Parts: sequence; structure tokens; C-alpha cells
Amino acid sequence: MTLQKKTPLTDTPLSTIIVGAGLGGLAAAISILENGHKVTILEQAPAIGEIGAGIQVPPNASRLLQHWGLDERMNAVSTLPQTCTMRRFADGSVLNVAPLYPSFVERFGAPYYHVHRADYHKLLLDACVELGAELVTGAFVTKVDFENGKCYTAARLDEPYEADLIIGADGVNSKTRECLLGPDPPTPTGDLAYRLIVPADKMKDIPELAEFVNAPAINFWLGPDCHVVGYLLRGGGLYNIVLLCPDTLSDPNAKTEKGDAAEMLSLFEQWDPKLTRMLKLDTSPTVVKWKLMNREEAPKWVHEGGRFALLGDAIHPTLPYLASGAAIAVEDGVALGELLGRVRSVEELPTALAIYERLRKPRTTRVVQGSTNQRTLFHMHDGAEQVKRDEKMKAMEAGVGG
Ligand code: FAD
Repeated sequence: MTLQKKTPLTDTPLSTIIVGAGLGGLAAAISILENGHKVTILEQAPAIGEIGAGIQVPPNASRLLQHWGLDERMNAVSTLPQTCTMRRFADGSVLNVAPLYPSFVERFGAPYYHVHRADYHKLLLDACVELGAELVTGAFVTKVDFENGKCYTAARLDEPYEADLIIGADGVNSKTRECLLGPDPPTPTGDLAYRLIVPADKMKDIPELAEFVNAPAINFWLGPDCHVVGYLLRGGGLYNIVLLCPDTLSDPNAKTEKGDAAEMLSLFEQWDPKLTRMLKLDTSPTVVKWKLMNREEAPKWVHEGGRFALLGDAIHPTLPYLASGAAIAVEDGVALGELLGRVRSVEELPTALAIYERLRKPRTTRVVQGSTNQRTLFHMHDGAEQVKRDEKMKAMEAGVGG
């Protein structure tokens, strides 16, 4: 890491608490530390462990890793997809192939990465620790006192943590958001995700599947009410598959539920035989269903007293259909860190937070809306609209119009 800590403009460094050690919270921590201030991260999990499956990191986020000098570490644990291929669900026929590497580096100055979420998370967490963040695990935040900068945790009810600024980065079911805005539980989007990881070697041995693992690439299959995304992870050793389908969780309040692999497979029976073959390589009888949640746009992101701000999924959860939820959470964190680097005293915090909200809200609203629009585009039933979509994709492939 080549990162140099700057001298803050304040007489003494500001103290900050970040609630939640997710990707957004950790990016905020790095940026705030880079700008010369202090960070304590309160994370509810008893320990930081292996989490999730694959994640796509677009150039708007990978550019920030470059800025921190973390790109070499990222290169070591990720893959660089060369192309993005859109396919018709029924037979896998190609609708469009878009180049990603090296063309994204040429166009945007930074690559599109695929990485295991655990590796990405570790890379950011290691950087936080190297820069001097204090990480407290097993710290479930129950209440925030916005006026006095106090954070109460379940484990220390009478002894709150205190800071000049508290940042709520506690994800889609955010407790700190509830403290600011009152109860407004996230709403189901009507979709769920299944996530599978298959050893790439198993696919290499099957001639019709080898094309998916011979070189890093993203493949999408677009079909009625569902779509599927597949890509390589961990130097090409694993194949990550995400299936996006209508929500069938039996408990309307559950965030996840154990599902039957046979039920999942039955949804894709009429799809590209290569895809169904791939899905059958995962032999576990059960699969996890992840409910995909959203929220209405919040009236405010920050407390007017200047001592509290929300970021990431806590304020703008999104469908993962543009693969951008984490990327915009990381952007939020960096925007906050950079603004703190321009603050000369605690008295300027209310202005800094107001600027943060004004800067970020239009951008994240666009991404959230774009992700919802993508659902309409991806999940069309066969018919006139779908034919028009496919023809447009093919015309783009042939370089005719946009
Ligand atoms: P989180 O990652 O949810 O982190 C919140 C943290 O806060 C957690 O560590 C949690 O334990 C902690 N916490 C919660 N409550 C408390 C509390 N009260 N006290 C203390 N700690 C607390 N995004 C992309 O950019 N690219 C992708 O390819 C992509 N794919 C996705 C695929 C799927 C199937 C899904 C569901 C999402 C995907 N996303 C993707 C979106 C991405 O996962 C989220 O947008 C991102 O993780 C949000 O980060 P965050 O830091 O805001 O919240």
C-alpha cells in the first residue's frame, strides 16, 4: 500500500465511529484515516470471517483501490473478465459481446474485477488496521445519541462509545437509520437470489462447459422473470453463479431461507442445456434463498447537528442488477473521507455533511433506479418487446447504433 496519511486541517484529528465493517464502512475508514482523522469501527459480528460469494467491482470502485495503492493486492486475488456476453435463456445463443479487458482500463483508467467478497473484505480490513483503525467486534449498536455523538452497544449499555462524528454503515437492516428516521423496514423487491459456487475444474472436464472457464468472462442468460450471471473467481479456480428469480420465501419477514435444490433447478429446466448442466454440478440438496430488499428514498441522509451520516445499503439499498451496490457504498465512504479532509473544525461538520448528502444523493438515486430498470430489461417474457430488445443488443454487437 502506497498510501500517505495527510495532516488534517483541524487542530487535532477528529474522532469518528463507523457502525458496520461492511465494504462501505471499511472504505469510509480508509478514506477518513488517509485524511488524517481517527476511526473506531463497531461491528456486530463476533468475528470477521468468510462471507458471501463473488462480487463484481466496476471501475468506479477499482479506481479508488488504485488511488490507495491496493490494486496489486486486488490483482493477486481477483480475475479480470475479458468480455461480457448476453445470451438468450432458451438456447444460450449470443445476443451481444462487450469487451471489458483491456478496453475498460483504456476507457475508464481502471479495470473491472471479479473477486470473492471475503478476499475483497480482507483486503480493505487489512488496510484499515495498517492505517491504525480500532476494530471492535461483537459490538451491536442499539442506539445513537445524535446531539452528543454517543453510540450505545448491547454489550456496553451504560458506557457508550463517543466521537465527533458517527457514520451508520450498518447495511440494509440498519439500526442507526431507524434511530434517525424512525421505523421504516426495507421492502421486498419481489425477487430473490440463489448463489452457487462450482469448482472450475469440474467444468473444464465437460467439453460443452469448458468455454465458460477457459478465460475470465461474464455470461448473462436473460429469460422470463429470471436471469443468471456466471463468472470465474479466485484466479479461475471457482465458477460463481447467481440466479435471480421471483421471491418464493415462505416467511414474508425472513431475510434468507433454506431452499430445495430441486425446486431451484425446476425453474431453469427449459433454459440453455449448458446452463442446466452447470447448475447440476452443485450437488448439495439444499440452497439458500436471499430475499432482495429495497427502500423508498429517504428524506435525509444526515443529522442536522453535523454528528451523524448514513452510507451504503443503510441509506440506498439496490437490486444487484447493475452490480453496483457495494461500489456506490465505497464511493460514499470516500466522499465522506475527502470532505473530512477539508474540514477545519468540528463547527464545519454540519456543512460538510450537508454537502455530502447533496453530492451523493443524485448519483445513488440514478444507480438504484437504473438497477430497477435493468430488471424490466432482463426479465422480459418472449414477445414483441423482447424481440426488440434482442435485436437492439445484436445491432450493438454488430456495431450498428446504440
Ligand atoms: P453491508 O455489506 O451489509 O455491511 C453492513 C455491516 O454492518 C455488516 O458487517 C453487519 O454485520 C454490520 N452491522 C449491521 N447492523 C449492525 C449494528 N446494529 N451494529 C454494528 N454492526 C452492524 N454490489 C456490487 O457492487 N457488485 C456486485 O457484484 C454485487 N452483487 C450482489 C449480489 C447479490 C446477490 C446481492 C444481494 C448484493 C450484491 N451487491 C453487489 C450489493 C452489495 O452486496 C451491497 O450493496 C453492499 O454489500 C453494501 O455494503 P454496506 O457496507 O453498505 O453494507
